[in-house]
Amino acid sequence: SVPLTFFAGIGGASRRGILFKGSNYIEALARVRTVVFDKTGTLTNGSFTVTGVYPVEGVEEETLVETAALAEIYSDHPVAAALRGACRQKTDKSRVGGAENFAGEGIMTYVDGKPVYAGNDRLMERAGVSFVAPAVVGTVVHVASEGKYLGHVVVSDTVKPQTAEALSALRRAGVEQTVMLTGDRSDVAESVAHELGIDEVHAGLLPDGKVQLMEDIIRRRRGQGTVAFVGDGINDAPVLKLSDVGIAMGAAGSDAAIEAADVVLMDDNPAKVAQGMSIARRTLSIVK
Ligand code: ADP
Ligand code: MG
Repeated sequence: SVPLTFFAGIGGASRRGILFKGSNYIEALARVRTVVFDKTGTLTNGSFTVTGVYPVEGVEEETLVETAALAEIYSDHPVAAALRGACRQKTDKSRVGGAENFAGEGIMTYVDGKPVYAGNDRLMERAGVSFVAPAVVGTVVHVASEGKYLGHVVVSDTVKPQTAEALSALRRAGVEQTVMLTGDRSDVAESVAHELGIDEVHAGLLPDGKVQLMEDIIRRRRGQGTVAFVGDGINDAPVLKLSDVGIAMGAAGSDAAIEAADVVLMDDNPAKVAQGMSIARRTLSIVK
């Protein structure tokens, strides 16, 4: 049976926008000593803006951006929204045919009947398109049409205003290891991790790679408290399930992430992880 104070703890947490899906997660959250974060939308705002447009010779900037926007017309990835937002022309939906998503890579969409690929280095390798590797810090979206490289658009995201303090609060609460997992480029990941003082960074991961790394972390940290994962994306669902405490961002989070999570943060504020830990610990100390 569940002690009554657990319900008080769950109630108090929910008034602060921290929803526990069961009383067993109070104990698991109280004992967290490793916190693994997804980057985009969790530590960062998840809203990108275009910071550079680099067409190859013979291609207009506007053509590059419009082609990218058309390719991303139906994508719900945050990178896609930035590309659509940067396009000055009204995008004509009738020019767009079928599309195929490649998780952690990008998208292929038929535009004017021609296959257009928009995504990262890995997507270009998949499409067999040779590209220029730019020396910039930012998320690079390469664009190719019918196998011809058109250039790339660089998009950037910013760290959430509450993230730095959220990580300090976790350290004060006894969290020993903070980890970031991301599908984004390592230069972007390293710069965010350095800014925030995150202990361990793994970049360029495909969804399967995130699952494997989470398994490794759980194995490595066995006997040293519980492992929490904090994320928001569709691809995060398997990792949320695997962790001792899966924590999802509730507002921007995908339905799949919210469904797979044990704890949901209603306002997407990473500072709520440490707040949830302290509520959980107070609740347990009352029980014991
Ligand atoms: P994260 O781990 O940061 O949540 P994802 O796994 O969603 O990132 O994506 C990893 C990388 O794949 C992105 O940083 C981006 O380079 C590329 N990517 C994914 N989807 C798209 C898309 N629709 N358009 C362009 N690039 C994409
Ligand atoms: Mg994500």
